[in-house]
Amino acid sequence: MTLVIARTREELAAARSSFGTIALVPTMGALHEGHRSLIRRARGLAGTVAVSIFVNPLQFGPGEDLDRYPRTFPEDLAICADEGVGLLFAPTVETMYPGSVETAVTVSSGEMGTIVEGATRPGHFDGVLTVVLKLFNLVRPEIAVFGEKDAQQLAMIRRMVADLNVPVWIDGSPTVREKDGLALSSRNRYLSPPERVTALSLSLALRRGAAAAPDGPAKVIKAARAVLDEAADTDPPLELDYVALVDPTTFEEVGEEYVGPAVLAVAGRVGSTHLIDNLPLYLAPEPFPETS
Ligand code: AMP
Repeated sequence: MTLVIARTREELAAARSSFGTIALVPTMGALHEGHRSLIRRARGLAGTVAVSIFVNPLQFGPGEDLDRYPRTFPEDLAICADEGVGLLFAPTVETMYPGSVETAVTVSSGEMGTIVEGATRPGHFDGVLTVVLKLFNLVRPEIAVFGEKDAQQLAMIRRMVADLNVPVWIDGSPTVREKDGLALSSRNRYLSPPERVTALSLSLALRRGAAAAPDGPAKVIKAARAVLDEAADTDPPLELDYVALVDPTTFEEVGEEYVGPAVLAVAGRVGSTHLIDNLPLYLAPEPFPETS
């Protein structure tokens, strides 16, 4: 399949009519194996895979890395061609936000957008939901694939689609990691070798926390915190934003009596790089004592 590149709304509209069902993979570019896995998953879900590449100013707060966010379009294009992507939508800021990024009407992520990741990045999820809805309206996909790597984002998009009756099926795809556990991220390329060592504490904390799941929520957090506290004293240090054990749908913290699926979520900064990670786990009731 030849890859069609659309840069403007007009090019996109002209291309859209020649495709049947579309599974959209929205990205900010600097594509890596994590994005490739989303594309491969999308390939099995619809006749055409569309990838969007857009670094969305609306979801970056003041002082965040909008200006230095990696932009690697030629490499991204080669990856899309290699993965059999049919349509690549790579709009400019002016195309997505004609006139100004300060649009009068945006999607509100509500209370859920102010907790966990939203508490450290005010306005972030409003920006994410607004651009995702705009991309849906422009590309008109039947399906859209998002990574579990950004678990709260995935939960919020599912919520938006349900609450606003958006006719797009949302599919979640598991997190792709390096062999040593580091979750792949476009931001990993900012990390110096010693910073990368510190960054490994995030995934290690998640694994230690998950191993304590049979002992209940407090022990999960305690086990994860032990790793994160140690990483706070290394050089370079981890500056922890949060570690939280939450309900996968609402992202509310779970209580000690909670039984069921949960997400252990963690975020922090190493140097000037903001990193997030999470692990799904299951909190089970006490097993019955063995009878002899
Ligand atoms: P981004 O380009 O970072 O905005 O990510 C675009 C999509 O790729 C989002 O749905 C992310 O959740 C997903 N993604 C990013 N990193 C990974 C990863 N390591 N594994 C799986 N999906 C990922």
